[in-house]
Amino acid sequence: MKLSQLTGALLGLSLLLPLAVDANQLPNPAPSRPQNIVIMVGDGMGPAYTSAYRYFNDNPDTEEIEQTVFDRLLVGMASTYPARVSGYVTDSAAAATALATGVKSYNGAISVDTQKQPIPTIMEKAKQRGMSTGVAVTSQINHATPAAFLSHSESRKNYVELANKYLETDADVMLGGGQKYFDQELLAKFDAKGYQILQEFSALESIKQPKVMGLFAEVQLPWVLDDKDGHRLSTMTGKALELLSQNPNGFVLLVEGSLIDWAGHNNDIAAAMAEMDEFAHTMEVVEQFVRQNPNTLMVATADHNTGGLSIGSKGKYAWNPEVLKGLSASIDTLAAAALTAEDWQAPLAQGLGFELDPALLEQLTKARMQGKETLASAIKQEVDRRSNTGWTTGGHTGTDVQVFATGPGAELFIGNQDNTDIASKLISLLPKGQRAAQ
Ligand SMILES: [Zn+2]
Repeated sequence: MKLSQLTGALLGLSLLLPLAVDANQLPNPAPSRPQNIVIMVGDGMGPAYTSAYRYFNDNPDTEEIEQTVFDRLLVGMASTYPARVSGYVTDSAAAATALATGVKSYNGAISVDTQKQPIPTIMEKAKQRGMSTGVAVTSQINHATPAAFLSHSESRKNYVELANKYLETDADVMLGGGQKYFDQELLAKFDAKGYQILQEFSALESIKQPKVMGLFAEVQLPWVLDDKDGHRLSTMTGKALELLSQNPNGFVLLVEGSLIDWAGHNNDIAAAMAEMDEFAHTMEVVEQFVRQNPNTLMVATADHNTGGLSIGSKGKYAWNPEVLKGLSASIDTLAAAALTAEDWQAPLAQGLGFELDPALLEQLTKARMQGKETLASAIKQEVDRRSNTGWTTGGHTGTDVQVFATGPGAELFIGNQDNTDIASKLISLLPKGQRAAQ
């Protein structure tokens, strides 16, 4: 078809369209500026994690490799380096500060600049515009990432200070762990501010309106691998969306799959993939919300990469995630159980889903005598050997991370950017001017 013919055909089509389609039956066109923003952070989820998850998730009995939500929503990449003073490798605090404020700071900073002065966050700016705000995370709610979105401190380690400062955030929904940091006196103050305070996860379902603070664990929530429920992050996220969307001025919600990073620090590929699975599921919940509420933008990324995960190691061109699906609990839990039980070998083999041959048994017996950490680490090495997984560090690495987006404004995140750009773009999408709080 020549260009003139194509133009003619398109013109004809555009003339026909109004006749063929009843305008009332078209879905609402997406606005160019979102009313609601959902920021999702897979803590430590560098590119190797999303690739590994694709193969973990793959059905090996079919020829094709199934796409994941990450493949579907990928739009760009982001650099993660912190302020000059901290070099090229960021921690979660500096990265969250960048994502929440658009300003780079030192490792450990909670939304303060290199002079330790507070920097306004997207959550505070949203509040000034009468919007609602919330966080749903699997770490304690005052851990580095949510803390940098909600508050300010010169150190991420100031957990009690941050918990107290949360009183001033006016956040409408705070869901995660952290009972340890909120004593009765502090909880009474949240109660006086009108917060419904929950400690039982099952109580979340009955909550019908904000404000709510759910502290569902002493510190972090259980590993997905140890959790009969296994869908806490997606459940908390679904509830947060339901509660926050009651505000006609819109909302900003932060969702964090916090324990992907903790699994990476532990070099525990089985825990990492299970946490990734629930984070992917949560992204699908948000993707679905965006479909039904086309005035919502979702942007997901990682704050940094953790562990130097490699898909294949030791010169072998192979990765075998099948072994990871046989575990009935986390390696932490299996090792703890094996340490205290008299008869530990058969239950451990059963929990891992593979036989312990004599050489392996001898290794594990020696490790067991040195305590839980040594035993857990010996088991992880065996799981790495069987899956051919590699690690280069127990800390973070400085590689760029991916950016995923859907909804109005998603196109702003296409291509290469810095993590501070993500925040600047999101802040630019907030409504102009200030409105009285709802
Ligand atoms: Zn970390």
